[in-house]
Amino acid sequence: MVSRVIPVEPFDLVIFGGTGDLARRKILPSLFRRFIAGQMPDGAQIIGAARAEYDADGYREFVRQSLSEFGPNDASKEVTEAFLNGLGYVAVDAKGTNGWPELASKMRDGHVRAFYFSVAPALFGDLADRLHSYKIALPDSRIVVEKPFGHDLGSAKLLNATLAQHFSEDQIYRIDHYLGKETVQNLMAVRFGNLLFEPLWNAQYIDHVQITVAETVGVDGRGGYYDTSGAMRDMVQNHLMQLLCLIAMEPPAQFDADAVRDEKLKVIRALDPVSPHHTVRGQYSASPDHPDYRAHVGNPRSRTESYVALKTHISNWRWAGTPFYLRTGKRLRARSSEIAVVFKETPHSIFGPEAGSHRNALVIRLQPDEGITMDVTIKEPGPGGMRLIDVPLDMTFAEALGPEVGEVPDAYERLIMDVIRGNQTLFMRGDELEAAWAWTDPIINHWDETKDVPKPYDAGGSGPEDALMLMHRDDRKWREIR
Ligand code: NAP
Repeated sequence: MVSRVIPVEPFDLVIFGGTGDLARRKILPSLFRRFIAGQMPDGAQIIGAARAEYDADGYREFVRQSLSEFGPNDASKEVTEAFLNGLGYVAVDAKGTNGWPELASKMRDGHVRAFYFSVAPALFGDLADRLHSYKIALPDSRIVVEKPFGHDLGSAKLLNATLAQHFSEDQIYRIDHYLGKETVQNLMAVRFGNLLFEPLWNAQYIDHVQITVAETVGVDGRGGYYDTSGAMRDMVQNHLMQLLCLIAMEPPAQFDADAVRDEKLKVIRALDPVSPHHTVRGQYSASPDHPDYRAHVGNPRSRTESYVALKTHISNWRWAGTPFYLRTGKRLRARSSEIAVVFKETPHSIFGPEAGSHRNALVIRLQPDEGITMDVTIKEPGPGGMRLIDVPLDMTFAEALGPEVGEVPDAYERLIMDVIRGNQTLFMRGDELEAAWAWTDPIINHWDETKDVPKPYDAGGSGPEDALMLMHRDDRKWREIR
């Protein structure tokens, strides 16, 4: 099996914030990888834009260094130079007049125009205004915006309204990089490409669903930002919510942007408000080699959570009665993202009580070792009656697909090329995003109003004790993080 490269039309891509951290670590290396893969058409123009005064050569040198740090390290000198030669730079102030006429003069007719807003959201309005007033953006141009898209429902609405002054919804690409991950897209393939699962995919057969995104890192290098955000805003409102939607949504009529996003929106709107008793927040403690959360963010009184677990329900015909448990945190035992769909027990055990209780579980691993495991109940080998055990039917995608499949593209590679192709399926629509904030806001507001203090948890562990209790109370348990 060989990975295919779908050609894209010639384009002009302007990266506002082209000297920033995201551009250095993600956007530019991803473009370089697509260049190496042969997906970059002749005539592709990439322009960095920020206030720093670089000339084109100076910017190429800056990008060369970024690529040596974050890019693929097996690219030849010739290929690297060819990529760098296609780069330009314009010193632009989002809040002033500097650089805008020059940027306008670099735009070419007949090319797709895309503008990546890799800057603080406070600058989105200024950029949109100037792209419009200098006639740089056309009615079919695209803009790409990053998370965090707002801090709450009010600020998200304001940002949407700001962008809507100059851009229609089909021009706006809101990135949630989780959706660009190959394995997250695989969720849809597994669900809607196999007949096997669909008849069982409902509250009648599924006991509960667990969604886990565990990280081993702390807030390293992002403490200032993270302490104003926390796990709920940084992870649950976007990434975990997207996973929940893909697991729970109805089959869309086709795999196109609005059909998929309509179905995701219905799930978010059907989510029950979360009871305060069904949320647990935590902050990681110190370990011998690492400070605790509060020291790490330099805020000894911080009440921001680095861990959150919660239980929610979806009030619709398919899911009424099946709880969804979500958890995410930093400084946990392992870096692991997975979704476990845990089935109910058989209605009657013909093997009697000594066979114990057994439940099938379909586990979709997003990282690491992307793959699927199905826990199946079998007879424990040997004499002495009918004892049952659960064994995993395990498939790792890399092994199943073989080495010829090649390297899996990074999420940003896929998403940036989708912008150029004009495919919004893997981007969040404005109403979807607002609905997600409308669901998370009351939870966060309750914590604020009650001055809730997160529970400490051991670094390298699996989260606060209370999160285990959240499941135990329901006679269930979390899968081990490993
Ligand atoms: P950053 O390192 O602070 O970079 C900000 C960029 O904006 C710089 O290139 C800066 O260059 C430019 N800039 C600032 N003021 C400007 C102005 N008035 N006019 C034009 N350019 C201006 O930030 P970042 O980490 O790259 O993040 C960019 C965006 O992506 C943010 O919204 C962030 O939340 C989001 N994001 C970042 C990451 C990440 O991993 N870094 C991940 C997800 C989302 P000059 O100072 O030279 O103007």
